[in-house]
Amino acid sequence: MTMNFSYQGNAARIVFGLGASADVGRWLAELGCKRALVLSTPHQAADGEALAKRLGGPAVGVFPGATMHTPVEVTERAIAHATELDADCVVSLGGGSTTGLGKAMAYRTDIPQIVIPTTYAGSEVTPILGQTEGGIKTTLRSPKVLPEVVIYDAELTVGLPVAMSVTSGLNAIAHSAEGLYAGDRNPITNMMAADGIRALKEALPVIVEKPQDMEAREKALYGAWLCGTVLGQVAMSLHHKICHTLGGSFDTPHAETHAIMLPHTIGFNAAAVPELLQPVSDIFGGTPGQGLYDFAKSIGSPMALRDFGLSESDLDRAAEIATRNPYDNPRPIDRESIRSLLQDAWEGRRLPL
Ligand code: NAD
Repeated sequence: MTMNFSYQGNAARIVFGLGASADVGRWLAELGCKRALVLSTPHQAADGEALAKRLGGPAVGVFPGATMHTPVEVTERAIAHATELDADCVVSLGGGSTTGLGKAMAYRTDIPQIVIPTTYAGSEVTPILGQTEGGIKTTLRSPKVLPEVVIYDAELTVGLPVAMSVTSGLNAIAHSAEGLYAGDRNPITNMMAADGIRALKEALPVIVEKPQDMEAREKALYGAWLCGTVLGQVAMSLHHKICHTLGGSFDTPHAETHAIMLPHTIGFNAAAVPELLQPVSDIFGGTPGQGLYDFAKSIGSPMALRDFGLSESDLDRAAEIATRNPYDNPRPIDRESIRSLLQDAWEGRRLPL
């Protein structure tokens, strides 16, 4: 690659540290905010309430209604609740679903956001918003949705179940792996991608053995931040396109779908651009597809789409949808090759490559 590139960093303040979430009040004050609405999923409602209690005065309420796929009607309810309480910012505590709700509110109202991520999805550092209306999922990019402050506090991730830590971590690795061959990649995103993948590769096996290991939890969050940053800065292709198709049209679960597809999509593209995926080979050993497959298996990831409600007869339609609109990918794609790749992922087969 030449040194002819353009790089735009996003302006969010990133705060790292064990116990750093105790400082939310300080960051609220920096933003000039006095009335925070805490957002969470129903599952993390108690954590949201505890955070609001710790915040004291500046927390005016909790909206524990965040849900998968950011439905517009939930966003509208959350905005109505924020208006009722006269909230002047949101504090999103949770994974991509909760972050998505805060971003959807900011898109419509410009409300400032502080995000405290508790998974490795990476949405908190991207200008991307996916939302659903009438069952249709649409995705947009806007700097308006970027959170102002992101607080990475590994103490809040020790409760992330091991199975979710594994799939969420592989979801993060997917952002960086695709970033390595993105047409608009640059030396900074390449550096972040390789470092992010390495951090997760080192952290995840330790988390599987010892979910409370704070050093590993911190390293995984660090990797997640880097991988999310890559996702937010360069274009994604085959892998994200297929996962979007499977999640959007067949309702397969987000992180699990990414985890299962990763060795297959990256293995497919490695045949065209092995030199760009060299960092993946260096980190996992072997070819990118096999290295990722063996790693995912070794940490107990789900390996087959057939275990997630997708029937073999769905694969034809999935291949058709995923190849309907052309997009940039380092290896040319056609319906037949994608159908065959999906068959391998459906069966959970290790690539011969
Ligand atoms: P999630 O936010 O849907 O969380 C899944 C479940 O795990 C929820 O019930 C949540 O409350 C719970 N959970 C989260 N953290 C926990 C913890 N530490 N301990 C216990 N339970 C916890 O899952 P996700 O994978 O983080 O996010 C997926 C969503 O994010 C998808 O809708 C995806 O499209 C979106 N996403 C968006 C972007 C973007 O840039 N816009 C990037 C990545 C993901």
